[in-house]
Amino acid sequence: MGSRAHCIKGEQLTERIGRTPLLRLARVPAQLGVGTEVQILAKAEWFNPGGSVKDRAALRIVEDARRDGRLRPGMTLLDATSGNTGIAYAMIGAAWGFPVTLVVPASIGEERRRILLAYGANLIFSDPYEGTDGAIRLARELAAREPDRYFYADQYSNPSNWLAHYDTTGVEILEQTGGEVTHLVAGLGTTGTMMGTGRRLKDANPDVVLIGVQPDDAFHGLEGLKHLPTAMLPAIYDPSLVDRMELVNTDEAFAMARQLAREEGLFVGPSAAAAIVAAIRVARELSSGCVVTILPDGGVKYLSTQLWQ
Ligand code: PMP
Repeated sequence: MGSRAHCIKGEQLTERIGRTPLLRLARVPAQLGVGTEVQILAKAEWFNPGGSVKDRAALRIVEDARRDGRLRPGMTLLDATSGNTGIAYAMIGAAWGFPVTLVVPASIGEERRRILLAYGANLIFSDPYEGTDGAIRLARELAAREPDRYFYADQYSNPSNWLAHYDTTGVEILEQTGGEVTHLVAGLGTTGTMMGTGRRLKDANPDVVLIGVQPDDAFHGLEGLKHLPTAMLPAIYDPSLVDRMELVNTDEAFAMARQLAREEGLFVGPSAAAAIVAAIRVARELSSGCVVTILPDGGVKYLSTQLWQ
């Protein structure tokens, strides 16, 4: 008696990353003219404990770096991030006991800033006019100056980013669709989601069509779509993998976010809404098919933005 063996072991927070639901859109596609033989299925990534798809990449980046000695005890994880990756690093750092320093454009949304501080991350603000590229440049400089202090995670160039999706997101989609997926629609930021998930789906079936989503008003975009583009092409990006590109503007994405909340019960962020806009465009052209899209995060972090004013 009193033996700990009798006690249920419980789970580690990070074990809850991945295995997100694949939801079937019930109403909006039909309203917008998608045929009954075409399904739109959405990977609900806000079910991850850090609230976004970026938990997957951050976890794999940290695991791989710890395994091969790039992230050693006493070191600080450093990266440039517009939010979700930072939240994921900060959560994992707090759970596993290593410090996290993030370079973020000073224009970062209020919710994101407060969430990062709540997890105990150290924030360094870069010039808001230089956007993501400015944050990347500053992170690189800091890492080069103090290589023994920092593990520079470099999500834009780190293969662990796309490998996370090759080994989890892609496999899950194949399982959840019974291999029936015909199209994948995903937003492009670091491009890790598309590179990893897309490669896994094409390995299983070369006929799967990969559709990348980008905002068409990148440099005027409001908070939420801004983190999709960067002027610097990510090193992990292979443009030859993507079959088609869809541009979605802020107004279309915001309108879809509102429609999804009211008519599907899906309260998502603007990049998720943009992905659905693109998925519906693709689906309307088909007579039959299984269009899978990734919804990177939920809507709560965007409550104070123009989207919900
Ligand atoms: N949408 C949101 C809300 C994101 O945070 C990100 C990644 N920062 C993306 C889309 C793009 O994902 P990826 O970096 O894997 O291309």
